[in-house]
Amino acid sequence: MSSTARIALNRPLRRLFDYRIPDGTPLVPGQRVRVPFGRQQATGLVVETGVTPPPGITVKPILSALESWPALPSETFRLLSWASDYYQHPLGECLFTALPVALRKGRPAEQKQVTQWRAIGDPAEVPAGAPRQRALLEWLSGIGKSASDQEIIQAGFTRQQVKALLEKNLVQANTTPAQPAIAPHPDYDQQSPTLSEAQTRAAEQLARPAEGFGASLLYGITGSGKTEIYLHYLKQHLGRDEQALVLVPEINLTPQTVARFQRYFGTRIVVWHSALNDGERLSTWLKVRNGEPVILIGTRSAVLLPFTRLRAIIVDEEHDSSYKQGEGFRYSGRDVAVYRAHLNDCPILLGSATPSLESYYNAQQQKYQLTRLEQRAGQARPPEISLLDIRSRPLDGGLSQPALGAIRKTLERGQQALVFVNRRGFAPVMMCFDCGHMVDCPRCDTRLTYHRRDRAMRCHHCDYQTAATEQCPKCESDAFKPVGQGTERTEDVLSAHFPDTPVVRVDRDSTQRKGSIQAILERVNTGEPCVLVGTQMLAKGHDFPGVTLVVVVNADGGLFSVDFRAPEQLIQTLLQVSGRAGRGAHAGQVLVQTCHSDHPLLKTLCEGRYLDIADQLLAERESGQFPPFRAMAIFRAEADTMEKALQLLDQIKPMAQTTGVEVWGPLPALIARRADRYRAQLVLNSDNRKRLNHVLKGICTHLDQQRLPGNVKWMIDVDPQET
Ligand code: ADP
Ligand code: ZN
Ligand code: ZN
Repeated sequence: MSSTARIALNRPLRRLFDYRIPDGTPLVPGQRVRVPFGRQQATGLVVETGVTPPPGITVKPILSALESWPALPSETFRLLSWASDYYQHPLGECLFTALPVALRKGRPAEQKQVTQWRAIGDPAEVPAGAPRQRALLEWLSGIGKSASDQEIIQAGFTRQQVKALLEKNLVQANTTPAQPAIAPHPDYDQQSPTLSEAQTRAAEQLARPAEGFGASLLYGITGSGKTEIYLHYLKQHLGRDEQALVLVPEINLTPQTVARFQRYFGTRIVVWHSALNDGERLSTWLKVRNGEPVILIGTRSAVLLPFTRLRAIIVDEEHDSSYKQGEGFRYSGRDVAVYRAHLNDCPILLGSATPSLESYYNAQQQKYQLTRLEQRAGQARPPEISLLDIRSRPLDGGLSQPALGAIRKTLERGQQALVFVNRRGFAPVMMCFDCGHMVDCPRCDTRLTYHRRDRAMRCHHCDYQTAATEQCPKCESDAFKPVGQGTERTEDVLSAHFPDTPVVRVDRDSTQRKGSIQAILERVNTGEPCVLVGTQMLAKGHDFPGVTLVVVVNADGGLFSVDFRAPEQLIQTLLQVSGRAGRGAHAGQVLVQTCHSDHPLLKTLCEGRYLDIADQLLAERESGQFPPFRAMAIFRAEADTMEKALQLLDQIKPMAQTTGVEVWGPLPALIARRADRYRAQLVLNSDNRKRLNHVLKGICTHLDQQRLPGNVKWMIDVDPQET
């Protein structure tokens, strides 16, 4: 009697598939197999063996096992099964998220080899009839090391030319495994500082209380030297042959952090982020899976990698919204990390200057141990924050006269200034100053954003774009001008005011090219006077010792938003960006331009005590019955008409309305139309997470058994970041 295995496929289907196990093929959960699927073949992952297939079904045989060992070891497998259930996302897609693309496609789990070419002959030996070959050999000899095909092509030569040189025995090939290159950082050799008194106290508190799981929340103000604490933590908790995971929101923005880890741990440091290519990913994945004692610094999806000896986890900037995946498998990297620490019986440290209300609440409930670090490291003092009321003040590129004056003074003192343009809630739009007309996206319910550089108007929610007109399209008035501030306009105004000072713009557009952010950071770190202008990107974890002034162009987006998380995010952003000021020897000053200088939230901001603000915000969350006091999930529906989207949600609403679950909606989403698709949502809210999970599961099963019209889609978002 042959046995049957239940297999997960990388398909958005909430079901598994049964296949017969060929005799003599031992299989365990997590192992990769090749199976027939329809008329094709597919890569599958074993979920269970020894199952009984439903009667009357012909079970096809598994074609082969791709390895003799499980690609997903049991702990990783359990983690992903839990996440599939918690986030109500199909198991197959969850499991495959933990595999690099090469392995999803069924390629062998072996390191990709890269061929490197080295010059071994004299360029003079190349026949004169082949000048390009000679040039290539000269180039190869000149660089004094071996070069890959890719580097050779980048240098302007061809594969054929290399081959010709090989045949003439003038170059030699050697193959090495593809390795993600970590660029050496200029700080690499710097001495690490001795911990300050405050740091020592924090580090002592974080010393292992006992064996096993334990979560700590490190509230350390900006510039308090959290990175040194992380290093200390790892040194204490990690044995020589154990693995650690360090989650960061965005790796390319903070090469300094990686460098500091390298200084302590050298080659144990490996990285994981979106800029790696498939070969580099596979190479790192294999190191982790093989149990090499790596310390992996990575972004969100690193939490799903197949560690086998994970003994410590750190989540830096744990409040950062980029930890939540925004589509598909909508997991929170931070929350999955906490569960993973549980599974591994190991400690986890969440660090932030502005902890999420969720984590802070857990600390208040004694689930996490709270450690405070409220002094800046070294000589630096916390910056002084003040509000600058801009009601009825003339603005130039969004900047008031006092703000421009403060920038001038800073530059005159030989220091650097940072101008922060809050994109969230604000965007420059074209408006008619005669009739008030603004241009909407024809496919979405949003306004088009004006881009000065190419005089285009673009929708930031779909790809629609059109040329900006000189006149109002409605009343043909000439008073059709941009309002609101974008970084480009602010940059132009600053350049005009300070023609002798470099103005450096940092946003998505200016940093898209590989290495451009590094170039910008290096320039800033020379300490020469300059003005940095940018968006959210500038608020994240940078250490700019020369910056002594931060100007926040517009603080008001988010103060009156309907999204329950908006005030928290606004305060976090403002404090994070303020934290870029005065990190070096000179004191920092922060000017926050606002039209609401009497708003209580902004007033407390000036006192700079985040936990006091967090207490206020938590009280509001409690009275509004919002997370973290309740568990929340959103059912989102999308269709070609609003009617259909609402109809689907109306249909499932009665199933959601059970004891202990509150249901809001269905309502059109905040942006009800996006790329000509209509979006609606149903919010489920409960004081009992288990019950909520049960209700979600019931609705999913119901919907899966239904035939929905082809253009209606639905998805679930558990612990939503955006409402
Ligand atoms: P945070 O992440 O808490 O904002 P960082 O870890 O980036 O802070 O540290 C801020 C700055 O303080 C860095 O330049 C770091 O090198 C420096 N620093 C950290 N600890 C010390 C110390 N004990 N003595 C002197 N400088 C320190
Ligand atoms: Zn649009
Ligand atoms: Zn008009």
